[in-house]
Order: sequence, then C-alpha cells, then structure tokens
Amino acid sequence: MIVAVDGTTASGKGTIAKALAARFSLPHLDTGLLYRAVGRQCWLDGGDPDDPVAALAACAFPEGLLADPELRSEETGGLASRVSVHPTVRRALFERQRAFALQPGGAVLDGRDIGTVIAPEAEVKLFVIASVEARARRRFLEMQAQGREVSLEDIATDLAARDERDRNRKDAPLVAADDAVVLDTSELGREEAIAEAIGLVKRRYAQTHGIPASKGI
Ligand code: C5P
Repeated sequence: MIVAVDGTTASGKGTIAKALAARFSLPHLDTGLLYRAVGRQCWLDGGDPDDPVAALAACAFPEGLLADPELRSEETGGLASRVSVHPTVRRALFERQRAFALQPGGAVLDGRDIGTVIAPEAEVKLFVIASVEARARRRFLEMQAQGREVSLEDIATDLAARDERDRNRKDAPLVAADDAVVLDTSELGREEAIAEAIGLVKRRYAQTHGIPASKGI
C-alpha cells in the first residue's frame, strides 16, 4: 500500500506520516528533507538558491547531510522552498522518491506533490492542512522549547510566504489530488490528528478493496 501525505508547512503531516508508517509497518520517507538538503548544500556552496544552476548542482549533496540537525531549522526550510521552485531540481529528486514509493510492500511518503506527481497511483492520499494561526502557534511553542528567541508574528509571516511560494510555483504546485481526503488539524491535538488519520487510511483501504472496514487493515 502506498500512502501519500501531502500538505502545508507545519500542518502536522510529518508527525502523521511517521505515525501511519509505524501503525501499518511501512517504510517512511520525509521528502521535504531532500529539498532541505539541497537548500542547505546550496548555502554551504555559497550559491544562490534562486539560481537554477546553483540549485541543481546542490542536488549532488552527500548522503551524510541528511543527518544534519540544521536541516530542521526555519532558515533551511526557507532555502528548501526556494530551490524546490526549479523544475530541474524537482526532476533530479524524482527517481529517488518514485523508487521509494514503488518498493515491494509499499511505503508512506510525505511532501507536497506525492499524490499528484510522485505516486499518483497511491491507494491512500491525505492532504493535511491547518490555519496559519494554529501552525504558527505550534512552531512558536516548539522553538521556544528549544530555547530559541522568535516572534509569533515572524513565524506566521514566514509560513504564509512559504505557502504562497509552494502553491504558486509552476511545476508541481501544492494542491490536493482530486482523490485526496482533506484532514484539517487546526483544532486537533497530536494524538487526535493521528487517530483521525489512521481511521481515514483504514476506511480508504477498505473502500478501494471493496471490503468492510472491520475486515481491513
Ligand atoms: O515539508 P518541509 O517543510 O520539510 O519542506 C520544505 C520545503 O521543501 C517546502 O516548503 C517545499 O517548498 C519543499 N518541498 C517540495 N516538495 C516536496 C517536499 C518539500 O517542494 N515533496
């Protein structure tokens, strides 16, 4: 079973994807991390993330970079959102994601274009959203807990800018696939969101296999 989890920045899609992978014993790929590695590598090379040539060169990042904690920072998220606009970068990362999705037994992938471009054949597609306020609040609390000084307003502005860029890029814009189920986590706690997603996957799986939900996974 291929499960595609797409959605906006800080909507909770990463947490949900990880939990679904554990619940259904599937391997998980956080595709945002690949774009983050490209953004970070471009910065390390002293390149301009808005320049397609510099961004493409950064796609040859060393595997070890994927373990760099700096990839999780807001700064790297911003760089990722800029390099991900280039079609050549998206093409360079396509095969790796596609191969992961098609491995025997299936997989869970989270990102922006999994259900539309990487694995349009996915049996289950979730599109996770939340209001800018709810997402900014979560990020704010997370960063505060890490002892970082940030303003709620700056986080909200940055999130909105990244949404805008992800939605309006020409190649693989952030959009729900026609057959995706939308999950709004604005009013849900972590465990509630996970429980809701597990229920949706079970129902969708049962539906596509023509079996009663109680007999499914
Ligand atoms: O999901 P995450 O916030 O880690 O993604 C960082 C950035 O990478 C996003 O803002 C988006 O621009 C880009 N991205 C993408 N396609 C994906 C995953 C991430 O364009 N499948």
